[in-house]
Amino acid sequence: MGQFNAKTLLKKSVAPFFAGLYQGLGQIVVLHRVIAESKNQRLRNTGIEITEEHLEQLIIFFRKRNYDFISLEELVDYLAVKRKRKFVIFTLDDGYLDNLTNAYPVFKKYKVPFTIYITTNFPDKKAVLWWYLLEDLLLKEQSISFRFQNKSYAFKLQTYSEKEVAFNYLRELIKSQEEENQLALIDSLFSINGIPLYQKVEELALNWDQIIQLNNDPLVSIGAHTVSHPSFKAISDDQILKEINESIQILESKLDATIKHFAYPYGSAVEVGEREVKLLSKTKIKTATTGRVGNVMREHINHLHALPRLYIGSATTELELNNFISGKTSFIKGVKERIITV
Ligand SMILES: [Zn+2]
Repeated sequence: MGQFNAKTLLKKSVAPFFAGLYQGLGQIVVLHRVIAESKNQRLRNTGIEITEEHLEQLIIFFRKRNYDFISLEELVDYLAVKRKRKFVIFTLDDGYLDNLTNAYPVFKKYKVPFTIYITTNFPDKKAVLWWYLLEDLLLKEQSISFRFQNKSYAFKLQTYSEKEVAFNYLRELIKSQEEENQLALIDSLFSINGIPLYQKVEELALNWDQIIQLNNDPLVSIGAHTVSHPSFKAISDDQILKEINESIQILESKLDATIKHFAYPYGSAVEVGEREVKLLSKTKIKTATTGRVGNVMREHINHLHALPRLYIGSATTELELNNFISGKTSFIKGVKERIITV
C-alpha cells in the first residue's frame, strides 16, 4: 500500500470527528433535467437527468434532516445571520421543458423554491442540442460515416457497447472543437443523416410563455445562463460580457423582472477561473454559481460570484449525499476543499 492510500485510510477513520469543519451551512443543488421513468435504451446523457421519483426522494432526504428550503434571494441573509438549521437551494440549468412538466409539480407539492438558469437560445429555439441529436442518431443507426476536416470517420453501431463507444468518442470530438469547427462537424454529422438541427430544442426546451408562467409563481425564480452557452475560457473578455449582459437583457424584457442570479456555462475549473469571476463582478449580477462541487460556508459571503454547488445525477446514492452534506467527502479530499470558489 502506498503512502497516499495509508493517509487516505487514516483520514477516513478520523473523518467523523473533523468533517464538521467542512459541512458548512448548506448546499446549492444543481440539476438539469427531471424526466419520467422509462425503459427505453439510453446513452450517456442520463448523467444530466434524474427521475421525478428521485427528485421527490431528494427533497424528503433534506426534509428528514430538518433543512430549510430557501431561494437564492435568501442566501445572503442565511450567510450573514447565525441559524440553527441548515439550508438547501435547488437550481436547474439551461431551461428544459421538463422543469415545468415534471419538476415543478414536485417542487410545488413540497413548497420548495427553485431557480431555473435560462440559456436564452433555448426558448429562442436557436440552440443545437447536439448531445441529444447524437444519442438518437447512434441508437437508431447500424453504422454511420462522415467526413470532417479532410478525414473520414466510420463507426459500426450494431451492439450497445459499440454505440456507447461511438457516443463517448464523438461527444469529446464535438466538445473539443472551437465554435466554427464545431458547427461544421455538427452539420456533417447530422445533416447528412437527414436530422434537422433544431429538432431537439423544439422538443425539449421551455418556450417563453412557459418561462413567463413559471416566473409568475413566487416559488420560482429565473436566472441567466448566457445566450449561447459557450465555454468562457475559449472566448474574449468582451464576448463574455456580451454573453452575460445580453442574456440578462433578453430575460428582463421578456419577463418584466430584474435578473440577479447567474450560473456559469459548464462551470468546472476548466471553464471558470479568476478572470471570469472578475468579469462577472462588472455586471449587475448578485450571485453566481459554478459547477465546482462544495458545501456553502459562511465565508462565501465574500465570494458570492463563485458559489459551489452539489451535482446530482441519476447515479448519486444516498450514502454519497450523506458523506457530502456531513463534510466527510470534502475533508477526505483535503484542506483546500473547505472553501470552494474557483
Ligand atoms: Zn448549462
